[in-house]
This record gives sequence, C-alpha cells and structure tokens, in this order.
Amino acid sequence: MSNNQIENIVIIGGGTAGWMAASALSSIMKRANVKVTLVESEAIGTVGVGEATIPQIALFNELLGLDENDFIRRTQATFKLGIEFVDWGQKGERYIHPFGGYGIDMEGVHFHHFWLKAKDINPDLPDLADFNLQALAAKNNKFTRPLDIARSPLSKIHYAFQFDAGLYAKYLREIAEDAGTKRIEGRVTSIQQESEKGHIQSVTLENGEVISGDFFIDCTGFIGLLIEKTLQTGYEDWSKWLPVNRAVACACEPTEDPVPYTRATAKEAGWQWRIPLQHRLGNGYVYCDKFLSGEEAEAELLNNLEGKPLAEPKHLRFVTGHRKKFWEKNCLSLGLSAGFMEPLESTSIHLIQSGLSRLMAQFPDKDFNQKDIDYYNLRTRQEYERVRDFLVLHYKATKRDDTPFWQHIQAMPFPDKLKEKMELYEENGRIFREDLELFNETSWLAVMHGQGLKPKSYHPVVNVLSAEEIEMRLKDIYNSVVNSADYMPTHMEFIRENCIADKEN
Ligand code: FAD
Repeated sequence: MSNNQIENIVIIGGGTAGWMAASALSSIMKRANVKVTLVESEAIGTVGVGEATIPQIALFNELLGLDENDFIRRTQATFKLGIEFVDWGQKGERYIHPFGGYGIDMEGVHFHHFWLKAKDINPDLPDLADFNLQALAAKNNKFTRPLDIARSPLSKIHYAFQFDAGLYAKYLREIAEDAGTKRIEGRVTSIQQESEKGHIQSVTLENGEVISGDFFIDCTGFIGLLIEKTLQTGYEDWSKWLPVNRAVACACEPTEDPVPYTRATAKEAGWQWRIPLQHRLGNGYVYCDKFLSGEEAEAELLNNLEGKPLAEPKHLRFVTGHRKKFWEKNCLSLGLSAGFMEPLESTSIHLIQSGLSRLMAQFPDKDFNQKDIDYYNLRTRQEYERVRDFLVLHYKATKRDDTPFWQHIQAMPFPDKLKEKMELYEENGRIFREDLELFNETSWLAVMHGQGLKPKSYHPVVNVLSAEEIEMRLKDIYNSVVNSADYMPTHMEFIRENCIADKEN
C-alpha cells in the first residue's frame, strides 16, 4: 500500500450496522495496520428490531470465521427456509416464498413452464410450491442442512436464519474487539469538517473527547448524523411506491416450538410479521399512519399476540427511501443511516453486508477518488431500486381493495421496470434476473405465482417433450421432493440434536 493509505477508520454507531462494519473491517484490515474505532451511545440505544435474514448472511458469518452451531446458540437463532405470506393475493390465501428453486429445469427451460403445461392438462396436479423442498419442509416444520447425497434435493437446501439482532451485535462486538477494534462509549455532540473539501476531520463527544479519523462510517441509524445532518446529502423518498411508514413491535413468549419460516400477514393498513426464535416470538405491525393510528396498530398487535408480551410495545417511524449519496467525501453510510425499506423480505441486514462488500471492492485511499465514490453510489442505488421493485410487487400483485389502505395501494403507480416484469410474466411466464438484482427468478416466480398472476402461455420449448413424458418427469420430481421432506427431522429436533447438543458433547 502507498503512504496515502487510510490509517484510521472511525465508525459512529454500534447497532447491527456498526458492529458488522467493525467486525468485518478489523478482521480484514488488521494486517494492514489500519486502526478501527467504534463510538456508540448506550443512552441513545439501537433500533432493537431486525431478526429475519436471507441466505447470503451465511457468507458474512463465514468471512468472520463463525462456527454456525455456536452462532445458533449465541443468538438464539432458528433456521429459515422462506417467508409465508398470508392474505396477500386475496384474503384467505397463503403461499410460501421459499429459498431455492422449484423442480428441475429441463431442456434449458425453467421448470415452471413445464408445470404450467402439465397443470393445464391435469388440474389436479400438485401446486408449484410442492415441487420446492424448502416450501414443503417449511409447511411441515421440517429442517436439515444439505446432505451429501448425489442428485437428491436434500443436497441443495437453501436456508437463512431468524435471530436476536441484539445478541448478534454483541457477538460481533467480541469478534471486532478481538481483532483490534477500539470501542468508545459516548454521545457525539459535534462534528468538525476541514475547510478545503469539507471532509470530516473529527467528532467530539459530550465529555469533550475528540476522535479524529481518515475515513468515517455513519452507522447512526435513521438520524444519519454524519451523512445527512453534517454532509446534507438529501433523501430520495419512495413513499409513493411503498407508503407504510410506521411500525410497532412487541416480542412475546413462544407457545410452541419455532417453525423454520417467517410469516408476513397482510392487515387492514399494512402487514404483521411473526418471527420465531428459540427463546421468543418476534411480532410487529408495519402500517401507514394515514390509515391507522399508533394506538389502533398497537391494540391490533397486542390482540394478535400468541403469548405473554415480553416488553412494552416499541413504536418506530420511518420514511422509505435512501440517501441521495450513500458515500460522500470521506464518509460512507451503512444500515438505517443509508436508507430503509420495510422488512417484508428481510433485506436490511443484507444491504449492510452488500454495502460492506462493495466498500471492500472499492476501498479508498486518502485521495478519495471521486470515480470510485460515484460508482459505489450508482451500484448501491441500483441494488436498492431492484429490491424496491420486488417489494412493490407484493402490493401490486394483489386483488385486495377491502380497506382504504388497499384501495390506495390499487391506485398507486408502478415503477417502470416492475410493470415490464409483471407484463412479461403474464404474457408467457418469462422472468429475467437483471444484473445486481438481489432476488433471482425463483423469488419473483414465488410471489407472482403465489399472489395469483397467471401467464397466458408457456415457453414453446416445453413442447419438445410429450405430455406423457412431462407428466412422468414431474411425478418423479414430486415424489423425490415429498420423500426428502419426509426424511428430515422436525426443525427443533434438528436444532436440539445438532446445534445445542454440539456444545454439550
Ligand atoms: P441502529 O440500530 O439504530 O443503531 C444506531 C447506533 O448509532 C446506535 O448504537 C446508537 O447508539 C448510535 N448513535 C446514534 N446517534 C449517536 C450519537 N450522536 N453518538 C453516538 N452514537 C450514536 N432488517 C432485517 O434484515 N430483517 C428484519 O427482519 C428487519 N426488521 C426490521 C423491522 C423494523 C420495524 C425496522 C425499523 C427495521 C428492521 N430491520 C430488519 C432493519 C434492521 O433493524 C437494521 O437494518 C439494523 O438493525 C441496522 O440498524 P443500524 O445499526 O443501522 O441502526
């Protein structure tokens, strides 16, 4: 590295974003003698929600060298095979958006095209979801990690975790401090910028301590203390596409063993999450304040709790969207300070992870090359936009108009690319993943099919196989998925025998 190397990274904020950044950067950069300092204020606290993830989190844990069983124990985690959506397409309907694909692609064509033809011929054919092992296992409360069995669906199980984000942050803090991160407790009360370029030079704490750095990472949550309050980068407001702007959360005692999936139930003015962990059940109502008051949302949530509440309900406000610049001068924003989209597909923690991975790819020196910064901002914006479109899909692929909120949703505009995607699918079942798009074809298919969108036709290549051949192949695939799900232990049996017992042995 040149003499121009960044020597001091200062992270402000110790929520999930701050500790993910500190643990990753100090683990990677310690050999380059880069100092990492993290400032957090216990008095301010963290947002305190954020429990469901997507499979990519395993890569982050791997980067830090976490043992998965240890992680499961330390964070009270459960496994997650997908999300069950209840009452989304229409009231009374439910479907699972699973991780991992449906059936087996044939003749270079996605499986669902063959299923569409076969279903046309035989209306009694099992639903598409029954050709996805994750969906079937979730429905039956089963789980196993992938097994080394050639050509079996059991060899390709895709999963994520549901965990206690507070415990996860604690765990990451240990890793970060072991790798050399210096933690400073205190509230930042002022920020100093140098006069020439306006770069941040230092922050001052309430007790007068001054902390200087070359590169600052803003992980201060919704307030965006550095990126917005100081550098005033502006905010891109996406409320016209995603109008929910409030949440009330309240964990309760579990009344049954945790299932390996998150549930999102559409409600009068938004939706409610249910996230089962080992030691508690996470619940929250995400809603739009134009259609429901905080008191009404809280009453509805408490009324729906399955067990005794474990704390007072916590109310949160947000505006969906993102900073116009995620990275400005010598300051990068991560987590809630960078932007926020409702947790319908559990994407926020992932966006921290992908921000960090882009930062590593474009790690700056003290010159802070503007081209690098612009490219980071462009790629991050694209990633956010693709996630946004996928979330809006859940609202636009619904027939619900039974409350003023859902009537408002019906009248909402479509983002252009989303409209194209839905039209393409409805025409001939085709789905294409665009570059940098987080959600793949399976995810789009799960939601479009699950919420009742029906293609007029299917891929013509399907016709190279006779109807009998397709029927026979689908039967084999279905049997092998059903047998695989039967073979799995229950979710909690798996955790007890493989994760908890691992510590006791
Ligand atoms: P915070 O947790 O708010 O942390 C901010 C930190 O900055 C704190 O340590 C605070 O003390 C510090 N700080 C602030 N100001 C100062 C100051 N002046 N001086 C010193 N320190 C300061 N994500 C998912 O992936 N899955 C989910 O299921 C999910 N559910 C969610 C549900 C809701 C309702 C919300 C709002 C978010 C959800 N998220 C979810 C997002 C997730 O909670 C956040 O992405 C994640 O917790 C990161 O938060 P953060 O670290 O950016 O901010």
